[in-house]
Amino acid sequence: MTVLRSGTATDTGLVRSSNQDLGIATSSLFAVADGMGGHAGGEVASKVAIEALQQAFGQHPSGPGLAEAVSSANTAVWVASQERADLRGMGTTLTAVALVNEGGRDVLALVNVGDSRSYRFHDGELTQITTDHSLAEEMVRNGEITPAEAMVHPHRHILTRALGVSPEVSADLWRIRPEQGDRYLLCSDGLTNELSDDEITEILASIHSPQDAVESLVQAARDHGGSDNITAVLVDVIIGDSDDGSTPAVMPVEPGAFGDDPSASVAGDGASPTTATGDAAAPAAGGAFVESDTLKGRERRRARRRERRRKGARRLLTFRALLVVVILAAVIYGAFYAVRWYNNNSFFVKTHDNQLVIYQGRIGGFLWYHPVVVQHTGVRPSNVPAPYLPSITAGVQESSLANARTYVKNLKAAQKSTQTTTPPPVPTTTTTTTTTTTVPAPPTTAAGGI
Ligand code: MN
Repeated sequence: MTVLRSGTATDTGLVRSSNQDLGIATSSLFAVADGMGGHAGGEVASKVAIEALQQAFGQHPSGPGLAEAVSSANTAVWVASQERADLRGMGTTLTAVALVNEGGRDVLALVNVGDSRSYRFHDGELTQITTDHSLAEEMVRNGEITPAEAMVHPHRHILTRALGVSPEVSADLWRIRPEQGDRYLLCSDGLTNELSDDEITEILASIHSPQDAVESLVQAARDHGGSDNITAVLVDVIIGDSDDGSTPAVMPVEPGAFGDDPSASVAGDGASPTTATGDAAAPAAGGAFVESDTLKGRERRRARRRERRRKGARRLLTFRALLVVVILAAVIYGAFYAVRWYNNNSFFVKTHDNQLVIYQGRIGGFLWYHPVVVQHTGVRPSNVPAPYLPSITAGVQESSLANARTYVKNLKAAQKSTQTTTPPPVPTTTTTTTTTTTVPAPPTTAAGGI
């Protein structure tokens, strides 16, 4: 026989214009949802999720029933988000605890998706049961940042798991022995972002009534700035089991493991509940209830966590390597393209086989590009004014094919004028040469070479 008493409080906070949080406390089901996704989406998501959860759990008020209810809630939010364009992408966090009966014993079943949290307050000590499904929390687990850094990390609100954002959801599950005097706090991140564990502990330790306690918690979060919606649900175990020390009070559960005979599946050999609770903060990937030796089980869970971390690091490495390759490829492609463009937009005039020839490219070639003959002009060097011959022999660079042709044409014209009238003044050696097209370039050597 277990008797629970609860309190619930929520507040929009001082910054947000609407409250997208939702908290409920019924006789056997307690939940907090923190909706997200646009102006309307967040409010709809948390409401749809909680309603679907309540409805589904009401039909199957059991451990497996709660797990299924989370799945139903996910489907309900997902379907609603697909039906209306303005709700697309909405989702919600959900943490819920339910009093269920397993094999004649009262058990608290706890679920979590997202970064709302559930805490256990036992013997004056506050322990976080759930693990945030947020990017910042993952970085803490991977040792990339400290918990203190996570509190102010720009990615602390980015969720790695949420309800209703895809057709399927994976929820973390726990089975808890309801011990007399224990308090379970369910809350949205609007509370935990404003209050430290010590501040929460102080309120839970000093205020007896659960309703007064949650109201005090929400008020304290408001006093700290209230930058987000704040929701808290407190569940007190008035009458419950007494701790006989034989089993950990809080145990992570594999999906579908509710309903197993708890006495057969408990992973304890006298380990203190505190240790087990601490370990429960990171639910095991598999077989949480199959280990017969707590220490061994914990070791394996640690190994599994290490393995996941290693895989995560490898994925990150692979991604970085790929990024480097892509950027390098882009740079190389860009360089090739620039070289080709530079080469293809260069022309020069040079004597070859006793005539003036127009080439595409740079005089003497450019990197791997060799000059290509564009036109044999048929103009003999003897048809060109003598002063220009040295530069034409070396090659005269022009910026376009038209300019190169104009240059040849002008050379011919200059020769004609020297034949009919006076010879043109021998050009002086200046440096402004190659791009002039109306007048033939003066005879500088190595004109336009690079
Ligand atoms: Mn929030």
